[in-house]
Amino acid sequence: MALDAQTIQAAVDAAHRDCTTRTGGANASYIPYLASVDPSLFGVAVVTVDGAACTAGDSDAEFAIESISKVFTMARAMADVGPVEFHRKIGADPTGLPFNSVSALELHNDKPLSPLVNAGAMSSVSLVTAVDTEQRWSRILQTQRAFAGREIRLSVEVNASEQATNFHNRAIAWLLYGGGAMYSDPMEACDVYTRQCSTLITTEDLATMGATIAAGGTNPVTHEHVVDAELVPHLLAEMTMEGMYTSSGDWAYTVGLPGKSGVGGGVLSVAPGKLAIAAFSPPLDPVGNSVRAMAAVAQVAQALDLSLYKVPGAGDPPLDPLVKG
Ligand code: GLU
Repeated sequence: MALDAQTIQAAVDAAHRDCTTRTGGANASYIPYLASVDPSLFGVAVVTVDGAACTAGDSDAEFAIESISKVFTMARAMADVGPVEFHRKIGADPTGLPFNSVSALELHNDKPLSPLVNAGAMSSVSLVTAVDTEQRWSRILQTQRAFAGREIRLSVEVNASEQATNFHNRAIAWLLYGGGAMYSDPMEACDVYTRQCSTLITTEDLATMGATIAAGGTNPVTHEHVVDAELVPHLLAEMTMEGMYTSSGDWAYTVGLPGKSGVGGGVLSVAPGKLAIAAFSPPLDPVGNSVRAMAAVAQVAQALDLSLYKVPGAGDPPLDPLVKG
């Protein structure tokens, strides 16, 4: 299928129109700020590896990046310590358990397994080369900015809300430290991890961040080299394995693209070498994926025939509702 701007815009518009009526789900409530975001916000965006953007709805509304930040910190830490060392220290297997599971650590000798769950994300933060907290934070923020091609900023409000309630993550950081899988001061890693979740992005930013991955690590809008192309397959593999929480297998089964979501309501999927699809809407299903955003990304992926697993000439599989619970 020709992925010209007109075809992509039509798919984005149709997904926005069709999925607006999807109800169900609820804003994340364990972080007070997220509970207060307007649940009717809904944006969809595609950015191609040529830097062309197609958007619909509230695609310029800012929202908290949350767990999606884990992908970009993974890129930073992998580049800093090398992919072999990164893999050895953190792992790459899905936990099969919720993103903030303590049981997952208990089951695996306090080792994180995946950089896309909270434990592995805090371990990744601790692996970023830095002499102090502020340098660690600034290198992670700079990485998010380079992927987005924009001056992404920390929301003081989101960060304050998360720092005041992140006791569970602090406990995970100490367990990792006890298990020898934390490579900086654990409370520093938890603090910086909490900040990296508290930056504000738009749906179009998110699609640009994904397009930088799709383009092999060079931002297609600014042309900045952000991460080596050799590291990109590791990012995509992890997104496939653990990107959509405990629906990652369902996402691969139905949509057939690497994905990542966050409890702020953002969902990203990457079609390597082609484009990235992003959507945002706050109400989440019980495992943490945005109900509307998942539906919209899935619809665009199918309309543009992007599944990595589809054999040429085969028909489309039915699009499951995908929503858990
Ligand atoms: N800051 C959130 C946490 O650590 C992010 C969770 C998420 O989006 O999955 O709980």
